[in-house]
Parts: sequence; C-alpha cells; structure tokens
Amino acid sequence: MVLRVAICGGGIGGLSLALILKNFQASQPLTIDVYEAESTFSSVGAGITLWQRTRSIFAALGLQLVLENRALSPPLMLRKSDTKEPFTFDELPVPYGSIALPRAEMVQLLVECLEPNSTPGLAIHFAKRLSSYQQDGDGVTLHFADGSSASADLLVGADGIGSAARRTMYADIAERTSRSDPEKAAAVLESARPTWSGTYAYRTLLPRERLQAVSPNNVMLGEAMIWCGSGKHVISYPISPTIINILFYDTIPGGLGQPLSGPPVVSATKEEIVELYQDWEDDLCIAAENIGEVSKWAISHIRNLPQYADGRVVLLGDSAHAMSTHFGAGAGQAIDDSYILGRILTHPGVTTANLVDALKVYDAVRRPIADDITERSLRTGFLYELHPDYVPAGTDLDKLRAGDPAELRRITDEARRMSRFHWAEMPEQDWERARALLERQILGKEDGSTLPRPEL
Ligand SMILES: Cc1cc2nc3c(=O)[nH]c(=O)nc-3n(C[C@H](O)[C@H](O)[C@H](O)COP(=O)(O)OP(=O)(O)OC[C@H]3O[C@@H](n4cnc5c(N)ncnc54)[C@H](O)[C@@H]3O)c2cc1C
Repeated sequence: MVLRVAICGGGIGGLSLALILKNFQASQPLTIDVYEAESTFSSVGAGITLWQRTRSIFAALGLQLVLENRALSPPLMLRKSDTKEPFTFDELPVPYGSIALPRAEMVQLLVECLEPNSTPGLAIHFAKRLSSYQQDGDGVTLHFADGSSASADLLVGADGIGSAARRTMYADIAERTSRSDPEKAAAVLESARPTWSGTYAYRTLLPRERLQAVSPNNVMLGEAMIWCGSGKHVISYPISPTIINILFYDTIPGGLGQPLSGPPVVSATKEEIVELYQDWEDDLCIAAENIGEVSKWAISHIRNLPQYADGRVVLLGDSAHAMSTHFGAGAGQAIDDSYILGRILTHPGVTTANLVDALKVYDAVRRPIADDITERSLRTGFLYELHPDYVPAGTDLDKLRAGDPAELRRITDEARRMSRFHWAEMPEQDWERARALLERQILGKEDGSTLPRPEL
C-alpha cells in the first residue's frame, strides 16, 4: 500500500517535511504532493537565523556543509541603545553559534535538495490554495479555492499563520464539541485564532556599502547586535557579505493577547522608523535614515493550541504555533516539527491502519516543546525591551534603565536561560522519545524507554 501524503504550504516547514520524507524513505512507499497557494515559491522575506537544534537536523540530512557555506555566523552582542550615550554590555553566549541567511535562499536550498523534477513520487502543485477539507475513515478530501479537489491518506497543514487547515480542523472539533458542551465549543474555536503579541516588527535590508559610506565606524557594520531599550528593541545581523538584515521592534502597551485588527503585513516608510527611534543612539538613527523598503509585520501568535492532530490531519509550523521571531524560533520549530513527523511517517511500523494513532505521538511529543519555545521567544523580546513583567525577579528597574552593568548582566543571564533549549536538547532526543512512544503504544513493543525530557 502506498501512503499518500498531501502537504499544504510550500514554505520552510512544508518543504522541510518533503525533504525529510524523501531522505528517510519509508519501507512503505510514499507519494508526496505539495500544494502551494502562490504561483511560485516565495522570494519575499528578509533574513532568518538557524540555531544549533535546527542545524543538527540538517546535519542528519547530510546538508550541514551546504548550509554553512551559504550562511554567516557572527557573534551576537547586546547593547544599551535607548540613549545618546550607548554602550555594548555583553555578548550573548551561543555555544554552537547561529547562522543567518535570506529566507528566499533557504527556500531555494530546500527546493534544490528536493529535486522535484527527478524525485519519484514527489509532485509540487502551484496556485492551489486550500480552502477546506473533509475527512472520513478512508482518507481526506482537499478542496481548493479554484474549485478543484484532491484526495490523500493524510493532510499536513503547513500553510502558515492564516492556515485554512487549522481553521477547518477547529471548526470540525468545535462542531463535535458543541453537541455536548456549546460553551466549550466556543472556547475551542477561539483557541485557534491568532492573537497579537503587541509588537510590530519593521523588517528591512541595508546594503553594507551604503552605511559604510555615510558612517564608516558604525557599530552595525561589526557584529550581529541586539539593541536594547525601554519599550523597543532592534536586531541587526549580516545575511550576506553585502547585506545587513534589520528588525526594528516597537511594542504597544496592552497589545499582548489582543485580536489582530488589520492586515498582518503592510508596507511602511523609513520616516516612521526614524521618528520612532529619534531618541536612540546615533549609529541606529543613521542606519534608519539609510534603509530602503520596509515592511511592517504585526507579530502574532498561535499559543497553546489544544491539539495539532485530528484524525488524519496534522498541523505543522506556524499553522500550529506561530511565534515571536527570537532565536530563529519560527523557522526552527517548523523544521523540528518536520523532523519528528517525517521520522514517524517513515517508521517501518506505521501504516494507513495505525496512522491516526501515529499522529497522536507527533502531537504528544511536539506540542509541549513548541508551546514552551513560543513562550521563550515571546519573553525574550520583552526582556530586550526591559519590560518590568519580563526582567528577572529582583531586578532594580531604575538602575537597569539607567544602564547599571550588574542589572544589565541579568538580561544576558535570562536571555541565555531562555535560549538554552538550542543546545541542551537536540531533535534527535525528541525523536528517540517519539520512537519509544510509537513502538510501545502503536506497535505494542514493551522495551522502548520513555526518555524523560531534560530540564531546560
Ligand atoms: C512570504 C513570507 C516571507 C517571510 N519572511 C520572513 C522573514 O524575512 N524572516 C523570518 O524570520 N520569517 C519570515 N517568514 C515567516 C517564516 O517563514 C515562518 O515563520 C517560518 O519559517 C515557519 O514556516 P512555515 O512553513 O510554517 O510557514 P510559512 O513560511 O509562512 O509558509 C507557509 C506557506 O503556505 C502557503 N500557504 C498559505 N496559505 C495556504 C493555503 N491555504 N493553501 C496552500 N498554501 C498556503 C504560503 O504561501 C507559504 O508558502 C515569512 C513567511 C512568508 C510566507
């Protein structure tokens, strides 16, 4: 029997899953259909960073070298910047480094490794926007916005934060729940709606040469930098020898958890940024005056979704757990999901007959980790903004805001604690736990250990 896998969304998560399925080939043959809403793979986007957990997955796929050759790995410095007398106060310890590259290049790399034209059983379908699906005991029928449909044994919703797969899944769950508990049904539906983090991220790219011409000693030309200050922060890092990626974050008090009003991404102007940061250090103001196109992203979350799997449908990446951007969390967690789901689907014991239970193992292993990292990523942004609710207990806020070195060191320590998951635990360990659970619960083997998750 061939297992027919439909992946909706040809972004970083969907393409990574296709690659992992290809690389770990099942004993049961697979067909993989990727349905992407757009007419081509997106070349839009600025930089993404990949940390050690994610790189370990690429190493398992034999792609570590290809990736490292394309990316840069600068040290990450922390700076107090909301003043005209700024200073660098620490280096964020990143034991295995983090690497950065343009998102479009990452997508292109995944496509190149996939070799869609010469991989048997793999087909990519463009301009196929999922609008809904129906499932029964035999499989899933996908309905697309162009009126066409397709069938599969399994649907993977890798269709981003606005996921149609998630919307349909939670409408189904709410409908079933409403028969016994209408109030709970409304809460279930609500849990699947994105909420705003309260933060806007202005994404832009700055040619190095342009900055060098007007400000040859600008600190932005050196290491990757986290520019900290009250209520706002900035992250800048090179994504190629010639381009600096900059994210200007602006947090609106009281915005966290509010429903998002308006479109998630709009274009913005450099004048908006110049005004927002006028009281910050000169190097940052000069950089802001020299940026080109800017897009303004309302950073939104899917937090604590009650389940990632329902029957033969499963959510992956931003569709399951859209999160803040820190520590390369969004892309990293999409790739983590892909690794665990890909290993489960290619396990020799998994068949269409036990697929539904196998997907529950994915949910059991991945959901607590992704939820934890969603919180860590969110907290870290507020930490860099010296937010009273997110700095470590006992911090003297006045001293911190005035730039006291001992208080600032607490910020580094906390950021280090938040980012520990990148090297304290590897996806391979998660897979070992998933495998043990799969073999015990689905295949009836008693010898798999449960391998407790390490304390982070
Ligand atoms: C155009 C774009 C630019 C981005 N730029 C950046 C960036 O510069 N830096 C950064 O850190 N992150 C960026 N992100 C977000 C980042 O890629 C994700 O947070 C992360 O990689 C998780 O990946 P994902 O595959 O879950 O979701 P995404 O990367 O969002 O991919 C989702 C894919 O699904 C497709 N899709 C959406 N709806 C449907 C549907 N109904 N049916 C079929 N396909 C659908 C989308 O076109 C997209 O290709 C960007 C995302 C997009 C879509």
